[in-house]
Amino acid sequence: MRLSIKAKLSIFISCTVLLALLMHMIVNYYTTKSKLTEEIEQRMRVTAQQIDISVKQARHAAQLLDEQLAEKLYVASVHIASKLPPDIEDVRDGQLTELSKELRISHISLLSEVDNGQDIVVKKSSDGKEMGLSTKKWSYWYTAFQQLLKTGQVTVSEGQKFHNFWAGPIDRSSSDPDYNDKWGYYYDHKRNYIINPYLRNESIQSFFDTKRIKELTEKTKETQANVLEITAFNPQTIGKGPKVTRRSDGQSIIRPEDSVILYGSHEYEHALDKKYVHEAMANESVFVECKVDGGYVLKGFYRMQDKKPYVLTIVMDGQALASTLHDQLMQSIAVGIVLLEIVLVGSYLLAGMLIRPVQAIVQKVNMISVGHFSTRLNVERKDELGILAARINAMARNLNMSTDKMRTLYEENRTIKEQLESFINQSNDAIHVNDLSGRVQRVNQAFVDMFGWSMEDVLDMPLSNIPEQVLEEELEAEQLLRSGQNIGARETLRLTRDGRLLDVSVSTSPIYNERGECVAWASIIRDMTSRKRMEELLRRSEKLTTVGQLAAGVAHEIRNPLTTLRGFLQLQQQTKHLNSGHVNMMLSELDRINLIVSEFLILAKPQAVRFQPKDVRIIMGEVMSLLDSQAHLLNIGFVKRFSEDVPLVECEENQLKQVFINVIKNAMEAISDGGKVELSIDSSDEGNVIIVIEDNGIGIPQDHLSRLGDPFFTNKEKGTGLGLMVSQRIIHNHKGTFDIMSEEDCGTSVTIRLPAIDNSQARSRDLVVINKMK
Ligand code: ADP
Ligand code: MG
Repeated sequence: MRLSIKAKLSIFISCTVLLALLMHMIVNYYTTKSKLTEEIEQRMRVTAQQIDISVKQARHAAQLLDEQLAEKLYVASVHIASKLPPDIEDVRDGQLTELSKELRISHISLLSEVDNGQDIVVKKSSDGKEMGLSTKKWSYWYTAFQQLLKTGQVTVSEGQKFHNFWAGPIDRSSSDPDYNDKWGYYYDHKRNYIINPYLRNESIQSFFDTKRIKELTEKTKETQANVLEITAFNPQTIGKGPKVTRRSDGQSIIRPEDSVILYGSHEYEHALDKKYVHEAMANESVFVECKVDGGYVLKGFYRMQDKKPYVLTIVMDGQALASTLHDQLMQSIAVGIVLLEIVLVGSYLLAGMLIRPVQAIVQKVNMISVGHFSTRLNVERKDELGILAARINAMARNLNMSTDKMRTLYEENRTIKEQLESFINQSNDAIHVNDLSGRVQRVNQAFVDMFGWSMEDVLDMPLSNIPEQVLEEELEAEQLLRSGQNIGARETLRLTRDGRLLDVSVSTSPIYNERGECVAWASIIRDMTSRKRMEELLRRSEKLTTVGQLAAGVAHEIRNPLTTLRGFLQLQQQTKHLNSGHVNMMLSELDRINLIVSEFLILAKPQAVRFQPKDVRIIMGEVMSLLDSQAHLLNIGFVKRFSEDVPLVECEENQLKQVFINVIKNAMEAISDGGKVELSIDSSDEGNVIIVIEDNGIGIPQDHLSRLGDPFFTNKEKGTGLGLMVSQRIIHNHKGTFDIMSEEDCGTSVTIRLPAIDNSQARSRDLVVINKMK
């Protein structure tokens, strides 16, 4: 889903506010909770203290009443003593009841010593249930009676003590345990019995049961909202159960101060109450929140100071607190929702206001992106958006300008490219571009026309248009190109698709990428066939010129012997006599003419040339046998040194014979008498057959060496000066070399080198071609 910035911004603001509200709610919830709890705890503490004070006051009142009752019993005792006889036996039946009524006390009993002071028993009483009660096992009570009988002064700790009188604490009635009674004991040493009046009424009763305290706690519960229960724990007995006291009369009783619950109820019992009580004893107070019977309550445990310190526990309804908190939470959530809505709307409007210029900018940028640069952005602001708008305006202007410039450049570029394309395609020279591995990347139409391969045939393939005979030189050229040398145009041969050989001029140049690395080769191939033809024509016309020139020379050369011939013939015509000497002279002159003409014909007449592989040694052998007789005549010896292993030579046999004859004849002519001509043939030079013709004749002067081979240069009387020239030309046509070395008076040596046909080499070339094809 795509959200606009506006939506995002308003969502962001709302989220932030929501977060803040949530934080506020949480903080508020907890502070309120702790505040409320603290307040409740405070209230509990106060309540506990109030209850404690009330209970203590009640006790104090009970104490006062107890003392008042003791006083009353004392006064009653003194009065009873004055009314009763000193001997118990003299007391009348009914007298005690009468006195009780008169003194407004419950009952009167009389106790006296029996069994020689071993026991003190009730001898007479207005209460029938008291009669005969033994007091021997009444612990301190019995002690108190004995002290009273002896000294009239009681020292046991409890009760009120007056002279001859002692009143014990309010206690459960011995004769009727359902009642709490207040007793008094009087003995004035004037009689044989102790007077024992006692009081039993509601007021006494109410003081000593928990009713009053219950009322108190009930009232507190009523007045203090949410107080559920008040319990006073006895830290001594909690967990152990109440302490049971066995009384002298054999009854087991639990004194109020020995029970677990001193007052109040304990319905909201919790498993950890005992622990909390002990903690409160140690730390003064403990406040806990807990669940009791599924209800949420707050419990405060407070240590209260008394004769024996105890723990007062207030249980409060936690539900009220929870519902207060809940209400408050609900309230703040409601407020939060309203606030959030306001913020949402507000932030949406605000974001809209903030975003408006951005939208204008976006629109403008959209227009720029589709190529409209002209409209101007009007954002009248000084903030970042204003700056942005200004920059975008500037950018649009610049873009407009650059786009225009680019358009012009593109047009220029296109024109240049088109020109280049048309140049390449219209060119009469074949052009092909190869990558570095030799695969063709493109060729032009002229290439297709020239070689016969279509573009599809050669694209991404290596070219196979290099004939075997130029493969080596092509490899060399490629090596030179790769090493970065410029080799210029080279004349070579190429094969067409249908196997025709083309004379071509190839110029190859590297194509560099923008980093200056060579990535491809572009070759321009010009078909040189027509030029070759032209050259041939030229050469032929040149030859004709040469022949023309020669003809002049030849004419001149021939004129002399012809003049001589004419002279002799004229003379013979006149004399009518055939002089044999003259005939010889005429024949010699005719031979000379023949010689000149035949040599001239070699030059002038285009002979049918057929190159064939031949063994030079055989050709040389034939020439030697041809010249052998003449040599013999001149006393010249031939020394033959032919090497065993001489390769064949691609040659025109007759032409080579002509060369050998010319050179050997020159050698023979240079030798005066008894000389020798050495003929050696070998292949010591790799790939060449070397023919050396050496004589020990007169040699050639230094200054003539450079002129050898010029037409008609001769030092001989009957020489033509054409032999060397013709020989050199023939050797050149055989792609060989022709060198003359000579020393005057020592001899001359002619070295002819002819390229040999090497079968093994031919094989290895085939291999190279195969490799290249791969
Ligand atoms: P020609 O033999 O008709 O003079 P060539 O062209 O054969 O014409 O030789 C030109 C000249 O070179 C000769 O006249 C001769 O002076 C010189 N020459 C050629 N071969 C030898 C040689 N073996 N020894 C000395 N001179 C030579
Ligand atoms: Mg010669």
